[in-house]
Amino acid sequence: MSAPLSPGATIGIIGGGQLGRMLAMAAARLGYRTLVLEPQQDAPASQVTNGQIVAAYDDPAALAELAERSDVVTYEFENVPVEAATRLADQIRVSPPPRALEVSQDRLTEKTFLNDIAAQTARFEAVSSEKELAAALKAFGGQGVLKTRRLGYDGKGQHVFRKDRPADVSAVYASMGKVPLILESLVSFDREISIIAARGLDGTLAAFEPAENVHRGGILHSSTLPAMVAEETAKAARQIAFSILKALDYVGVIGVEFFVLPDRSILVNEIAPRVHNSGHWTEAACLVSQFEQHIRAIAGLPLGSTERHFDCIMENLIGDDVERANALSMEPNLMLHLYGKAEARPGRKMGHFTRVFRSQEQVDENDPEA
Ligand code: AMP
Repeated sequence: MSAPLSPGATIGIIGGGQLGRMLAMAAARLGYRTLVLEPQQDAPASQVTNGQIVAAYDDPAALAELAERSDVVTYEFENVPVEAATRLADQIRVSPPPRALEVSQDRLTEKTFLNDIAAQTARFEAVSSEKELAAALKAFGGQGVLKTRRLGYDGKGQHVFRKDRPADVSAVYASMGKVPLILESLVSFDREISIIAARGLDGTLAAFEPAENVHRGGILHSSTLPAMVAEETAKAARQIAFSILKALDYVGVIGVEFFVLPDRSILVNEIAPRVHNSGHWTEAACLVSQFEQHIRAIAGLPLGSTERHFDCIMENLIGDDVERANALSMEPNLMLHLYGKAEARPGRKMGHFTRVFRSQEQVDENDPEA
């Protein structure tokens, strides 16, 4: 077990988006320096890091330089080329481990891994031809969600088949670009929740409470705390997140998304080997945010408290929503976070905000009349 990184040490971050930006800000507060590998100049993270290597994520010379100038390397998105991360891990500690990338980059590998560790998922079938699609659809009763196995996010590269809306299977197959696909059974869930959990360098485990998430058009719209789920459901979700962390010998923060079924059982939808949009509320409602938790884990510091001090709702500002920023900034009990992106394109995450509320329990505690 290595000693924690000393203040002044450098954390290398692959990827310069908003997650990298928020990781860098958390690292700075703990006295660390950050160096980002990102091809785009003036990206959200590059605006707040100590340095940037401007190159592709798999550029061998850039990766060698990143290893040379960092004390540990992490990443902010799951599509970092596995080969590049594995090569890098020969030179320097890479946390989370490249195996976590391998598992989460391919929905088929991911679901197989989950089922192997007894975490249930929707039923699934690999699809690599129109004929296989027709057969899988038939097996799932004429409905299902067709997804690309790789490079899908925020609902991109997906098609929903419903029994009551017959579709042209051949046209849908062609529209997916003839890449490897997976058909999942269409889950009729009551709600969606996610767990943000962490594993420290010494194997310690910690999890924030589950957030209840609402998606619009496949993109996260809001996360609400507390989630309206039974304690046994929250406990089951936490246990699954911990099993995943242990099975991957993981170090850092992970996001695990679940469907909650009417009988209160849960299915894992997907895992993200990084800090996660549905954990942004932690920066406003907890003393230690998911970003600080990740930095603590990879730096070998003790994990921080996951206690939640407020009820809250986090909402994303997507595209033109960012025009609400001025009005939102006038609200008390609201934390606004903008990502420094110049252009508000449709579907682009520009920022988020978290409204906090005192929970009824806290109101009762402070009111002797209650
Ligand atoms: P994903 O990109 O896989 O996280 O999917 C985005 C959103 O689509 C999820 O958060 C769900 O709201 C919905 N979704 C994905 N897969 C399924 C499924 N198998 N059954 C029902 N809804 C799904």
